[in-house]
Amino acid sequence: MKRFECSCGQAVFFHNSSCIRCGVLLGFDSSRLTLIALQGEGDHLADDTGQRYRTCRNARDYGNCNWLVAAQDTDDYCVACRLNRTIPNLTNPANREYWDLIEDAKRRLVYALLSLRLPVFSQTRGWPHGLAFDFIEDHAHGEAVERVMTHHADGVVTINVAEADDVMRTMSRRQMNERYRTLLGHFRHESAHYYFDHLLHDPMQRTAFRILFGDEHQDYATALADYYANGPPADWQMRHISAYAAAHPAEDWAETWAHYLHMRDCLETAVAHDLVKTSGDTFDALLSAWQEFSVALNELNRSIGLSDAYPFVISPPVAGKLRFVHELLRAR
Ligand SMILES: [Zn+2]
Ligand SMILES: [Zn+2]
Ligand SMILES: [Zn+2]
Repeated sequence: MKRFECSCGQAVFFHNSSCIRCGVLLGFDSSRLTLIALQGEGDHLADDTGQRYRTCRNARDYGNCNWLVAAQDTDDYCVACRLNRTIPNLTNPANREYWDLIEDAKRRLVYALLSLRLPVFSQTRGWPHGLAFDFIEDHAHGEAVERVMTHHADGVVTINVAEADDVMRTMSRRQMNERYRTLLGHFRHESAHYYFDHLLHDPMQRTAFRILFGDEHQDYATALADYYANGPPADWQMRHISAYAAAHPAEDWAETWAHYLHMRDCLETAVAHDLVKTSGDTFDALLSAWQEFSVALNELNRSIGLSDAYPFVISPPVAGKLRFVHELLRAR
């Protein structure tokens, strides 16, 4: 994440909607990918160049969005909120807090997608191949509970609202024997499934993909059933970034893509705060900066009594897969 500054000189952050020093209203302009200081209120906001904006409708209705809508845009919602197809059931009071956490993670994903110049179009606004989000929870039917799986299908990313509950998510992480499980990680992972078809339509790219990741047409249900019954192969760490990535080539792609976004965004933050000189132009430079910085990141966490922020090892085959994602994104 970049570092932002209020017009008064105070350092301000991606999630801020006002400056803690001078009190000015702040909003995120998704077309310029920057947080800006605003004059005026509600539907009549302007920055210091006279550019006009409105707040997102979710800011007015729920106070959970700091992104702006350009004055000439007819949509009530910002580009991130208009992706929502289903919001959490707010008759459950706990879901208000969970939804805020979900929106925070979603905006970080959308920021990364926009900064990578990936297409971000909403299915709910008439784009049949666009993206949409359903934030829903398990439903009880008498004694039976209908479980909601966090997944992607035909551009719709479903996130189980319980993933915003730290206790529930930690229980799932332990049950699944995972080293890392976060809301942001879910968003990044599911976005990979969505962009797979958008980015890998060229037969040459598909061939290159299969050499590294395997054949994505491998029967998915059988592969997943096998993974859940028997776990990953003992040597998964030699070839995959996570145990789950060993389940199926499509999951390997999603875990690798999510990991690439973790690396890229975390390095952007480190550079913005002068912790790293540069994230590098080439993949080799990026990987080398990341390997050095991630050691420091873990040590920083350990020095305040937290577990490792980065519990991963990048083996040479995994580096090859990350390079594939890097080059695919750069070739666009
Ligand atoms: Zn200020
Ligand atoms: Zn919004
Ligand atoms: Zn997946």
